[in-house]
Amino acid sequence: MPLLSTSCAADYIFVIDLPGAPNPVRLGDHGMARSAPVKILIIEDEPKTGAYLRQGLCEAGFNVDLARDGRDGLYLASQGGYDLLILDVMLPGLDGWQVLRAVRKQGLTMPVLFLSARDQVEDRVKGLESGADDYLVKPFSFAELLARVRSILRRGRGGTDSTTLRVADLELDLLRRRVARGGRRIDLTAKEFGLLELLMRRHGEVLPRSLIASQVWDMNFDSDTNVIEVAMRRLRVKVDEGFEVKLIQTVRGMGYVLDEPDAH
Ligand code: CA
Repeated sequence: MPLLSTSCAADYIFVIDLPGAPNPVRLGDHGMARSAPVKILIIEDEPKTGAYLRQGLCEAGFNVDLARDGRDGLYLASQGGYDLLILDVMLPGLDGWQVLRAVRKQGLTMPVLFLSARDQVEDRVKGLESGADDYLVKPFSFAELLARVRSILRRGRGGTDSTTLRVADLELDLLRRRVARGGRRIDLTAKEFGLLELLMRRHGEVLPRSLIASQVWDMNFDSDTNVIEVAMRRLRVKVDEGFEVKLIQTVRGMGYVLDEPDAH
């Protein structure tokens, strides 16, 4: 393994204890000069995901470090100097929550973007309440991650409304679990809320029924069930009825999309 690498090729940074060394020694490309000053630390144990994210963010011009478990990640984060942490929830060593708590305890205020495999309400609320700035559910597209990263970096720490999703005049408050359109409150069931959150997080993207089934219902897509169609119909009535601009659209044979019709 090279001690230093200037390429965007993905290598984990290993935090190792060398006999006689006063401090753990880090191997990797951390600290190399780069054109972009923004530094991102990814803590992700899944090698493919970690490599993919690192590669993409590196190519987007960020200075990226990658740690493969909670302990190494916390060590690196503690060294400071990171503008953003991308933190997987399920990690060996320390899990994402523990890393975040420890990081905040040290007084580090860099924004944190959580990654999780499951769109679980408790996880999401827990993440946002424990000081995460945003939450991304796997699987996500790289374009979505990049957009999220840029938006977090733009608004910076202490920015407002990091827990509210907005598309046109539709607002979804993740913490208070409230939805409003044009300032008017919309009451949703838990499933409808989950469905709308998914559509809003990935607005502009056509979401296949299979993805909706796995993300919102935690089930494999079964063509015999019309549970998605039924929920979607109810959601559309609540969100779009009475409004000139219809935000939720059916894309025949493909799925559903939430978007501003004139956004493109
Ligand atoms: Ca993981």
